[in-house]
Amino acid sequence: MDVIRRENPARVAEVVGRVPVTDADGVDAAVRRAGEAWREWAARPIGDRVAVLREAAGVIDGRTGELAVLLARESGKPLADCRGEISFALTYLRWVCDNAPRVLAPAEIDDAAGRLVVRRAPYGVVGCVTPWNAPVILAMVKLAPALAAGNAVVLKPSPLAPLAVSEVAAALPTVEVVHGGAPAGRALVTHPAVRKVAFTGGDAAGREIAAAAGSMLTSSVMELGGNDPAIFLPDFALSGDDYERLVMATFATSGQVCMAAKRLYVPRARMAEFTEAYTAAAERVLVVGDPLTPGVTMGPVISGPAADRIRALVAGSLSRGGTAVPLGRAVGGLESGYFVTPTLVTGLDDQAPLVTEEQFGPAVPLLPYDTEEELPARANAGDLGLAASVWSADEDRAFGLAARLEAGYVFVNTHNRTGMSLRAPFGGVKRSGYGREYGEEGLLEYVQSAVVHAPAAFRDGGAGLPATAYPA
Ligand code: NAD
Repeated sequence: MDVIRRENPARVAEVVGRVPVTDADGVDAAVRRAGEAWREWAARPIGDRVAVLREAAGVIDGRTGELAVLLARESGKPLADCRGEISFALTYLRWVCDNAPRVLAPAEIDDAAGRLVVRRAPYGVVGCVTPWNAPVILAMVKLAPALAAGNAVVLKPSPLAPLAVSEVAAALPTVEVVHGGAPAGRALVTHPAVRKVAFTGGDAAGREIAAAAGSMLTSSVMELGGNDPAIFLPDFALSGDDYERLVMATFATSGQVCMAAKRLYVPRARMAEFTEAYTAAAERVLVVGDPLTPGVTMGPVISGPAADRIRALVAGSLSRGGTAVPLGRAVGGLESGYFVTPTLVTGLDDQAPLVTEEQFGPAVPLLPYDTEEELPARANAGDLGLAASVWSADEDRAFGLAARLEAGYVFVNTHNRTGMSLRAPFGGVKRSGYGREYGEEGLLEYVQSAVVHAPAAFRDGGAGLPATAYPA
């Protein structure tokens, strides 16, 4: 049996753990087990299901410290970040427990027009394929609503961070975990007993999975990449704390976040002031080192190829006439892992790959603008439309520009996770995906409306209708 051997990206000689690769027969067996489990689970009242999920939240909660260390060692994310991710996943799970009974309750009408019930029926078996950058929360935003709604789930985490999320999934009911790369993912999303596919990841895998799910007529939700612009209107007024938050909005998780601030647009007249305050803030908050070292806020990137790709993007920027400004400070030796120096790049044109592509790493371009009128077109250029941010001393002015941006989520005066809300749906427009996570829409993603209707015309005392009539 093949085995995935996951190394610590901060100390690549250290093996953090191993998981067996699930072959096609194994995936089939997991889907069958889930297929046997979901009907009994769905038949239980939703109050019982959320009680079981709440209990699981308590069990995971008690293991947060240990799981955070495992997550830090397999993903290269700083320990405090990992603790935060697991806590946030539990906050979301409990939010689902609080809200699912209301949102998923059947709607019932019994009046002069007839008796109508709209049930929220689970799909059955949901196949989830998830990435490595936030493996626990990105699985939980699928698992929690799917399970609360009465589905069973087969989860295939990324082979680059399979360990902590497997432990979390093991605490939840009616969840099977399969392991491997694209072959295991393909076997899952094309399985005929999988009725819903939930995917978070990159463009190439997203296109293949959407096509595979489509070929089976399987419904899918796709959460894909982004190239978020952060726009500073001419009146922007940032405190030192704001600059620090902005720096981390790009460099948290070494820039490997779908909704990181990936392009910065600043009025030309304020470029020098911005650059100085930004680099000073980075010096204060951006501490690169081993994820388990207290005070470290940025670890390595996920793999050797990822480090090579980001360094090549920066080198390519320099050969186009850009200037690289190294940011932050390093603690400890960085030669044992996949560390990349966090970098601000100035002097680029709008066609530079660092501007047009999702860099998904610790390098960000700083771009000047002359008039506000040029902003929507420059921000909306390209196929991606996940998130964006607008920063202004005048909130109405920020909301005005936000309405002209092609993005699924626009943050005002912040960016990235600090701007999220459990009650707001999250997801992309254009090629950043479709379907939504979080909020009520994120719950409704895992049910289909199923109607039972007795028209008044044919109930006792009803007036009847001619056989070919349309309803009144
Ligand atoms: P990836 O697309 O390489 O892999 C994601 C998952 O898909 C992994 O589990 C992988 O094994 C699996 N996979 C890959 N090819 C497959 C195939 N052909 N069939 C079935 N499964 C397949 O992505 P990644 O490198 O793990 O994550 C980075 C990307 O994810 C970035 O583009 C990032 O922006 C995006 N992302 C999006 C969101 C969001 O909410 N929109 C959140 C986090 C990450």
